[in-house]
Amino acid sequence: MNRNPLEMQAIVNGTILTLDDRWTSYDCGMVIVAGTTIREVGPFDQVRLDRLGIPKEHIIDADGGIIIPGLVNTHTHIGMSLFRGIADDTANRLKRVIFPLERKLTTPEVVYTASLHSLAEMILGGTTCFADMYYFATQTARAAQESGIRGIIGQSVATYGGPDAPDFPTSVELVHRLDNLLKGNDRVMAAIAPHAPYSLTKQELLQCAEIHANRDIRILSHLAEMPFEESYTDEHYHMRPIPFYHQCNLLGPKSTMAHCIFADGNDQRLLVDTGTGIAHNPSANSKSGKGIAPAYDLMAKGARLGLGTDGPMSGNTMDMVNILGITAKFQKVLKKDPTIMTPREVLRAATRGGAEALHLEKSIGTLECGKQADIVIVGTDSPAMFPLYDPYAAIVYAASPADIDMTMVDGKLLMYQRKLYTLDPQAIRIQAKGMVSHIHKEMHELL
Ligand SMILES: [Zn+2]
Repeated sequence: MNRNPLEMQAIVNGTILTLDDRWTSYDCGMVIVAGTTIREVGPFDQVRLDRLGIPKEHIIDADGGIIIPGLVNTHTHIGMSLFRGIADDTANRLKRVIFPLERKLTTPEVVYTASLHSLAEMILGGTTCFADMYYFATQTARAAQESGIRGIIGQSVATYGGPDAPDFPTSVELVHRLDNLLKGNDRVMAAIAPHAPYSLTKQELLQCAEIHANRDIRILSHLAEMPFEESYTDEHYHMRPIPFYHQCNLLGPKSTMAHCIFADGNDQRLLVDTGTGIAHNPSANSKSGKGIAPAYDLMAKGARLGLGTDGPMSGNTMDMVNILGITAKFQKVLKKDPTIMTPREVLRAATRGGAEALHLEKSIGTLECGKQADIVIVGTDSPAMFPLYDPYAAIVYAASPADIDMTMVDGKLLMYQRKLYTLDPQAIRIQAKGMVSHIHKEMHELL
């Protein structure tokens, strides 16, 4: 089913939600794809289809499903999926469990295999683009390139280095290596990923901003996530985390900050005014009891806000479909108002908002002529998807990842009718099994 990149194809017979400025939709529509981009979006027109001469085998029947822009997962650590479920819900998990576990057991092979495993889950769940920050980032980049997904891959840097580097200067070397590997690749891009305000010195954070500017690469980081972060930056720098990052030149039109839970009115204004992208992770943030970010307030102020799952040790799944309902419900609880964070607003955040948060809105995020063909079909055969009075509400409140029928990136089919075309999940699992046995043995010493 994989197409020659110059060929035309059509997706027909589905409800199209374009997510454009006017919320244009078509009850029975068609999307024409030419090569890697969208050529036309409109009502289904057999005469037009015949005139374009698209061969039958290049026509994808959505079978009454809902055709939407691909989901954008703005914050992940996909190289951690083989650690999923270890020491869930224990105290001080980051420093007591996760950091020592990574130090001992994270290897290039583990990151590569775990990345492939997560990518299979993400593509089956309708994710077409993701932003990741982790160690051995060249391995995640390699897996992303093989899978056909779009991504921004961040190499984690910190004072203490990580499993792939003994210190900050060595982890910076890895950023250069990643960027050299991905230079000129516009589907999988490099980023520098300072871990968090408390994980690097001010000097090191300023150096990250310099590398970002000199190399013209993205910045991904965790910000205003931890309850202790405010007292940390107050004690060391006499300011709040978000203004501190601004002083370090880390906010701006090519940076994306994950979480931003502890953001007061001034912090929110700073994020909006600097054009910083925000990755909102309501599932992971609630599981860890940290709090719920003011996502609705940020959106109302015009923030570039997208949604994310966080890593598989934090949110456990890489499922963006269930994030939709969680996003709506937590914001309603936070604001004590059932009328806010509507299905339209949530689906926008998961698609177009994600593209804005990653500063990719010129090429992805909507179904419009000229955009890259990153397209998903949400099937409507399952009991929860019937009746279908409001397609936005059905996707946000009733759909599950198993309802995704097709995932396309750059006009290439990555999954259709639940079959993956670029990855073999059985082979990945066989490859992972030996690593999982080793992790199982070793983890007991750490817990
Ligand atoms: Zn994270």
